[in-house]
Amino acid sequence: MNATNSEAPRGRGLSLLSGGLDSTLAICVLRAQGLHIEAVVFESPFFTSRPARKAAALLDVRLHVVDFSHEIVGLVQHPPHGFGGAMNPCVDCHAAMIQRAGVLMEELGFDFLATGEVLNQRPMSQNRRSLQIVQQDCGYADRLVRPLCAQHLEPTEPERRGIVDRTRLLALHGRSRQAQMALAKEYGIREYPSPAGGCLLTETGFCRRIQDLMAREGMADLRLVRLLRTGRHLRLPGGGKCIVGRNRADNETLAAAATDGDALVWSVNVPGPTLLLPGSAGDYDLALACGICAAYADKRTDAAGTLVGVQRSGVVQERVAAPVARERFEAWIL
Ligand code: SF4
Repeated sequence: MNATNSEAPRGRGLSLLSGGLDSTLAICVLRAQGLHIEAVVFESPFFTSRPARKAAALLDVRLHVVDFSHEIVGLVQHPPHGFGGAMNPCVDCHAAMIQRAGVLMEELGFDFLATGEVLNQRPMSQNRRSLQIVQQDCGYADRLVRPLCAQHLEPTEPERRGIVDRTRLLALHGRSRQAQMALAKEYGIREYPSPAGGCLLTETGFCRRIQDLMAREGMADLRLVRLLRTGRHLRLPGGGKCIVGRNRADNETLAAAATDGDALVWSVNVPGPTLLLPGSAGDYDLALACGICAAYADKRTDAAGTLVGVQRSGVVQERVAAPVARERFEAWIL
C-alpha cells in the first residue's frame, strides 16, 4: 500500500488522520496519484490518537502526533460556533485542528493539507456552510484539499497548480457509506472503527462531569480535566470533588495523580477502591469518602468497619470507617 510513496512524488501533502475510514481513504486517494503523504493526528483529554496510530501503521504512513489539549479545553468553554448534540464544538474544533496542521505543514515544507471530510455526511460539521466556516477560520483555505468530495467544491491552489490532479479526486457526498465501503475494498482496507465514537465530548453522561468541573474547580488545571475519564465522579455534600476508582487501573491512575494538596483514601486489608479528593478536602467530605471506600470494599464478617488509609497534606493515617449507605451516595454521582 505504500508503493506510491517510494516513487518520485509530484507534491507533498499532510493529511489529517483520525483512524476512521474517511481519513484513511483520503490518504489512499492522494497516494494513488503519486503524491507523498504524511499524516497528523491530535490528542487531548477527550480523544486519543490510538485509532490513528493503528491506521497509520496499517497504511505505513508517517504520523505526526500533536497535543491539542489547550485548544480543545478553550473551545469547550467558549465555542464560537456552538456545540453539536452534547459539548462537542465540532466546527471550531475542525478549524482549529486544520489551523494547527497548517502551521505544521509550513514548518515541515509540505505543499498542501488534506482531510477526509465528505460533504453533507454529518449534519453539523460537514454541511457546505460548516466546511466554508472551517475554510475561513483555519487560515489555510486555499491549501486545504478534500479528496473525497473535491468535485463538489471550488478548486484549491494545489489543484489549480497541478500539484494535485483534480480529475482523480472524488465526488462523494451524503450520509450513505456504500461508496466508502467499495473504496475500502478496492484499497484493501479491512479494519477501521465505526464512524461515530471516540470523542468523549459527544457523550452527554461525560459532559455532566465537564459541566460540574467548569462550575466548581474550573478547567485551568489540565490534570483535573484528564482525570474526568477515570473512575466514578462524585460531588460531595461539603462541596468537595471525589473520584472513586472502579478497577485496579483506575486505582493506580488516581494514586499516581495525587499531589500533596490532595487527599487520597484506600482500603487497607481487603480489596477496595482508591479515592482521590483533589484540592483541600474538608473533614466532613473526607469522612464521607472513607465511608464510600468502605461501602465499595470487600467485606470482612469479623470487622465492625473497614480499615482505610488516608493521606492528606503529606500525612498518612489509618482509620476504621463504617460504610455510607449506597442510596445516599449514589445521589452524588455525576
Ligand atoms: S467529535 Fe470531538 S474531536 Fe471530532 S470534531 Fe467534534 S469535538 Fe472535535
